[in-house]
Amino acid sequence: MLNSVAYKYSPIFIQNLLLSCHELIKRKLRATKSSNALMQQLISHEKDSKALEEYSKNKLESVINNAINNTEYYSKYKNKKNLNISNFSYTSKEDVRKHTVQFINCKSKEIKISGQTSGTTGKSLTIYQDISSVRAEKAFTDRHLQWAGFKKGDKIAWLRGDKIVPMQQKKPPYWRFSYFNNMIFFSAFHMTKEVIPMYIKAMEDNKVDIIQAAPSSVVTLAKYLEMNDSYYQGKLKSIVTSSESLSLEHKLLIEKHFKCTVFDWYGLFERVAAIASCEHNNYHILTDYSHVELLEEDNGYHEIVGTNFNNRIHPLIRYRTGDYVALSNKKNCPCGRVYPIIDHIKGRRGDYLIAEDGQKVYHLSQITKAIPGIIAAQFLQDSQTKINLLLVVDENKFDSFQKTKLINSAKKDLGASLEIEIELVDIIPKTKNGKTRQVICNIKG
Ligand SMILES: [Zn+2]
Repeated sequence: MLNSVAYKYSPIFIQNLLLSCHELIKRKLRATKSSNALMQQLISHEKDSKALEEYSKNKLESVINNAINNTEYYSKYKNKKNLNISNFSYTSKEDVRKHTVQFINCKSKEIKISGQTSGTTGKSLTIYQDISSVRAEKAFTDRHLQWAGFKKGDKIAWLRGDKIVPMQQKKPPYWRFSYFNNMIFFSAFHMTKEVIPMYIKAMEDNKVDIIQAAPSSVVTLAKYLEMNDSYYQGKLKSIVTSSESLSLEHKLLIEKHFKCTVFDWYGLFERVAAIASCEHNNYHILTDYSHVELLEEDNGYHEIVGTNFNNRIHPLIRYRTGDYVALSNKKNCPCGRVYPIIDHIKGRRGDYLIAEDGQKVYHLSQITKAIPGIIAAQFLQDSQTKINLLLVVDENKFDSFQKTKLINSAKKDLGASLEIEIELVDIIPKTKNGKTRQVICNIKG
């Protein structure tokens, strides 16, 4: 509906109505009695370790049975005695790519909905889901929204990769209303530095309760506030982020300038792991969402390996995500939820550059951190000798002195021999999924 020519050329109030209907239909399909019942069940066991363990154990058994009986790929384990999860070999992304059809549940009569994982080096995977899988996902994300204080009727500002404002529109408002669920959708594709203060004001004027955003977009708003030594003037319950990496430094920046807690969600389209931060800023591995194993690496980090609980049509067992976490010593969280705690998510696949010595460098926001005038940045690397840096800046604050400082900062972290080329842009380009990649490294291996 939103991609149609009719939507594109309709006046804004018609677009608001069409968006409202689109959202209503989406809600009717996803937020059903079953997804709501699941959410209530999830809430009921999150502080009860025995009930949670029982739930997860049953889920894992059911997933294994489904996989060995209904998919060709995992059928080789069918006759194994006393089969348990540790008997399975790890499943790699390459396995799924090579044997796509063998992973599909051949007995399911459900409609298959296909989707793409976000490929970081141009290689994405096609994963199929059925409607129950979509509804289960909704139950989990709705529960996280409840952690963030959401109550029925709250107004939500949505700032993610949805194309709700046609690209040819060159004047504000770059936001649309969805009346039935009390949401305002802001276009991340029009977020130039001139537009940023309009977004902040529109959120304040509309008395938004919660902002749901891609980290890069809300970080850009927070940086604007920081640069102008100002703070969000409205009263927010919380900000909920997902889909991209969020560094601790950026999380704190948002929390400072929006004066509320950020609830961050790590997930991936393969649905093999979900990690959610709570009101005490602890990241919990949701053990009712999937079975997660953490594989130790040489560098002190652990790789997330997961088995999805909620996709009977495309089971994945012991799937290696290529994403890493740092463990935490904390055993309990004051929030009372009994899920294991990790210290932080290192970064997602591809969220790094290769330094001159061949090491992967994550957390590149450190490089731009101390440089005034930078609103948004994207690092691009096609060769081991050069890095391109796209920047959205406030020209009044970012001058040649700051530019030199930035280049030195990049060389300090990445290597003095690297060539750093800076290009000033109006907006950081988005992927076709509407995501903003802070780092694009096209070097293989
Ligand atoms: Zn907690």
